Amino acid sequence: MTNLHVLVVGGAGYIGSHMVKLLAKSGCKVTTLDNLVGGYRDAVLYGDFVLGDLADKGMLEKLFANNRFDAVMHFASFIQVGESVKDPSMYYFNNVSNTLNLLGTMRHFDVDKFIFSSTAATFGEPKYSPIDEHHPQVPINPYGRSKLFVEQILQDYQHAYGLKSVCLRYFNAAGADPEGELGERHNPETHLIPLILQAASGRRESIAVFGRDYDTPDGTCIRDYIHIADLCQAHWLALKSLLDGQQSQQYNLGNGHGFSVQEVIDSAKRITKREIRVTEAPRRAGDPAILVADSTLAQKQLGWKPCFAELDVILTHAWQWEQQMNHSK
Ligand code: UDP
Repeated sequence: MTNLHVLVVGGAGYIGSHMVKLLAKSGCKVTTLDNLVGGYRDAVLYGDFVLGDLADKGMLEKLFANNRFDAVMHFASFIQVGESVKDPSMYYFNNVSNTLNLLGTMRHFDVDKFIFSSTAATFGEPKYSPIDEHHPQVPINPYGRSKLFVEQILQDYQHAYGLKSVCLRYFNAAGADPEGELGERHNPETHLIPLILQAASGRRESIAVFGRDYDTPDGTCIRDYIHIADLCQAHWLALKSLLDGQQSQQYNLGNGHGFSVQEVIDSAKRITKREIRVTEAPRRAGDPAILVADSTLAQKQLGWKPCFAELDVILTHAWQWEQQMNHSK
């Protein structure tokens, strides 16, 4: 797998930066393209870096003309559900229209392998649990719709143009690089685990639990947290499957176990051995009670097996990162 040249779009972001590291460590040549709106230049630890935006078709043409990419991994998108409801145009332009620019340039330069970051939000309100690939996709917000549109576009592009893709639908990406070099750094941070750990380190006063009246054993929402390293490993295996000649595919990625918000807080208290101030807040709009993945298909077809499935391990790595962030602030 050496000598492969992979373009990682959004390689300065949370998942992209971990992916760049895995690709480089696996012997690939890596180029990151990122506009640094949500990412950090210092998170790109390996390969070449190009500052640019997918809206800029001229830049894309030049980038592809100057490099012979074997495959593209696309992580660059807006990811906040609430924001997508308030400003759908922003989501459709960035997540759909800009992706069309990227796919158009790939076609022009005959690059025909694409790995796409999709999401559990394409399923909408769960009809059953755990959620497998046969579950109906009825997203309930513009964010989920923007990702589903791209999934559908990719199916049409495979039929019409032979562009092969793997869509990976993440449940809750979490944790940090086990070697401590990278981690989660959203601004503003909205995700549960970094927020809890910021409350533990003192960077934030408290963590608010969004609703204790759900139909779950302790009343708080249940999510399937998947370690960032396991997520990246799935991308790597997905890329290999395309190189081996597999056709386009979609996979759900999670551990198949759900943990409640309260269980995550309890785990954080165990790992950090710190006081964590918890407050109560109303439900957040659009949050289903339970979201758990059935990843049997990825396990069977890709040979993927999560290595860091335990919540305490996910929290341990995330805490290692949070302590570094807290010291460097
Ligand atoms: N959550 C919470 N307080 C927060 C942030 C999140 O209680 O400050 C809950 C949220 O309602 C959901 C879970 O934690 O049930 C995971 O939310 P997150 O935003 O991390 O990921 P999402 O499930 O939205 O992708």
